[in-house]
Amino acid sequence: MTRGTPTPLADRIRALIETAGPLSVCDYMALCLADPQHGYYMRAEPFGAGGDFITAPEVSQLFGEMIGAWLVHAHAASGAPKRFHLVELGPGRGTLMADILRVARLRPAFHAAASLHLVETSPRLREVQKAALGANAVNVQWHDSIAGLPVDAPLLIVANEFFDALPIRQYVRLQGRWRERCIGLADDGETLRFVPGTGGLEDADLIAGLAGAPEGAVVETQPLANALMQDLATRLAAQGGVLLAIDYGYGRTAAGDTLQALRRHEHVSVFEAPGLCDLTAHVNFEALARAANLAPLRPRRLLGQGEFLLALGLLERAGQLGAGKSEDDRERIRGEVERLAAPGQMGDLFKVLAVAPDIVPLMPFDPV
Ligand code: SAH
Repeated sequence: MTRGTPTPLADRIRALIETAGPLSVCDYMALCLADPQHGYYMRAEPFGAGGDFITAPEVSQLFGEMIGAWLVHAHAASGAPKRFHLVELGPGRGTLMADILRVARLRPAFHAAASLHLVETSPRLREVQKAALGANAVNVQWHDSIAGLPVDAPLLIVANEFFDALPIRQYVRLQGRWRERCIGLADDGETLRFVPGTGGLEDADLIAGLAGAPEGAVVETQPLANALMQDLATRLAAQGGVLLAIDYGYGRTAAGDTLQALRRHEHVSVFEAPGLCDLTAHVNFEALARAANLAPLRPRRLLGQGEFLLALGLLERAGQLGAGKSEDDRERIRGEVERLAAPGQMGDLFKVLAVAPDIVPLMPFDPV
């Protein structure tokens, strides 16, 4: 139990629980992240050294350059359509797209064919993205959701640390049953805490797979992420194109509580300062791949971020970037490579899933 820092959103959450009963983890996460007034992504700057967490594009320009190289390849492998839409889901500060576009300019056939679409709910982050994209921003269309994306040409879609920000559900094993894990109030009427809800887990396959789970075990489902993936994959099957999802996550469904809160680079209780901390959950890539398959579209072999970046030429590009630079600069670049690609760092904690029609060869997913 955590009393936490008082915030306007904490007061609203308490009032909601008092009137309507415990909130699901899904509703709690949605309020904390996306409440139009107090949600985490709607207010201050979450990213970077001065924020709460650092994402791969903020670690190094090398990350976005490798993604750019992959997209150029994916475009060529898809038959080099004369027009396509380059889409980013949850672009944060716009750093990744800016780095992708720097690479894209080296390939006029790619650059000339692309129109830019950013799916972003936060008006404040849209302004940050506009500034990061500079002159390119005039060609960008922003969308509140994927529903607004055009239907008239292939979509090349990138999502880095996007799916982990979508609200999840949790279930807890109690006396042989999986009960939804909810958030209620402790006896003091103020402190937020986990309580079992009235609903249960209904996915028979998942229940069967978790038969040996002990009392108190927690399992997560990600209905929003899966539904979004299925929608996107349906679009790709109809319009053509590819999707690349990169996130902290796991490749096989298993029990485990991965809901976490970060504030100023420290792990804190998920009840600490609602609306002022980042809340995420690890992505279940097996479930995400299955959702794409339903579309039906072929999800490719799941890769670690390290093997993905190295196969694309991370070391070669780092060497090129360091050539002629000072020893300090070269040391910094080595550190960035290590952070992005080394095991135990982002190299294996982060996973990369590509989804595309069968006939499109996608290096380094498909050795051809
Ligand atoms: N991709 C960026 C930022 C990741 S943080 C990077 O790698 O640095 C998550 C991003 O997704 C933020 O831009 C946030 O505002 C956005 N976001 C979160 N939920 C969203 C939703 N449901 N729809 C659209 N954007 C969302």
